[in-house]
Amino acid sequence: MAGRSQIWHRILGLAALATAGVAADAAASEPTPAATGAAICRAAEVGLQVLGSGGPIAEGSRAGTSYAVWIDGRAQLLVDAGPGSFIRFGEAGLKVSDLKAIALSHFHGDHSAGLAGILNSGSFEASQEPLVLIGPAAAAPFPGAAGFITAQFGGENGAWSYLGGYLTGADGRRVLDIREIDAGDPVRAPTWRIALGDALSVTAIPVDHGLIPTLAFRIEAKGRTIVLAADQSDMSTGFDRETAGLEPDLLVAHHVIPEGEGQPIGLHRPPHGIGAMAANIAPRQLVLSHNMKRSIDRLEEGLAQIAGRWPGTVTVAEDGQCFVL
Ligand SMILES: [Zn+2]
Repeated sequence: MAGRSQIWHRILGLAALATAGVAADAAASEPTPAATGAAICRAAEVGLQVLGSGGPIAEGSRAGTSYAVWIDGRAQLLVDAGPGSFIRFGEAGLKVSDLKAIALSHFHGDHSAGLAGILNSGSFEASQEPLVLIGPAAAAPFPGAAGFITAQFGGENGAWSYLGGYLTGADGRRVLDIREIDAGDPVRAPTWRIALGDALSVTAIPVDHGLIPTLAFRIEAKGRTIVLAADQSDMSTGFDRETAGLEPDLLVAHHVIPEGEGQPIGLHRPPHGIGAMAANIAPRQLVLSHNMKRSIDRLEEGLAQIAGRWPGTVTVAEDGQCFVL
């Protein structure tokens, strides 16, 4: 037979459960940051929404790198699709059928591992328009854009060959119009401009990210300019030359490493390098994304390094955030 205190504990437990239920209901009815950001971007002529503001390590609630460019109420360009971007894509109410293009900066998992899930979602939408897919050309051990897609959706050996319509047009799928960009020379860094109708263009600029073929993107949308610098080291001299004095509306830099010894500076710019990049490009505002625990833990020091080289407005991006341009 239960004693008095045991019964009392049971009553308290039930009360706690009931309170938790109420809290869960309240949380469910609150819009997510990505839904709030989407409402802001949808109302703007041009906006950049950060779908994923994190990096390759699962260390919090940030999705891997992903951005959506909104024009006239629709997200028309997706840049990168890191893990978790599928969830932000849904929270923001995005549709694959609204996209004119998907651009992938490189084939590290934190930038590309969410793509299959997003395209799988798109297979439930009706659209016959080709879908432009921009990505770097192959350099072993990394595939090029075509190899990356074929390995997933190709007829014979593709992991998800049931979605092969993305290559053939079968089953009412949008055929991926794959544009491979040679990213092999980050010093010479010739640029490739791809027009996506009258209001939108994407210019791919090779950058230095160690031995990984990687592209930064300059996006022109209805007279606004966005530079997504991608993962790049200080040795991206061609990118520096191509973007010098550009004065874009927005520069997004990847805040991967803190300042100091022992950091992989052959792959990424430390904060002083981000400051130098901003000073060279002269954006209206600078957004730090690809935020990792190691860089966020030393944020004040990093911001001081940036401010020492470039005095403008810096925002540390969160998932879902919309920047109206
Ligand atoms: Zn990365």
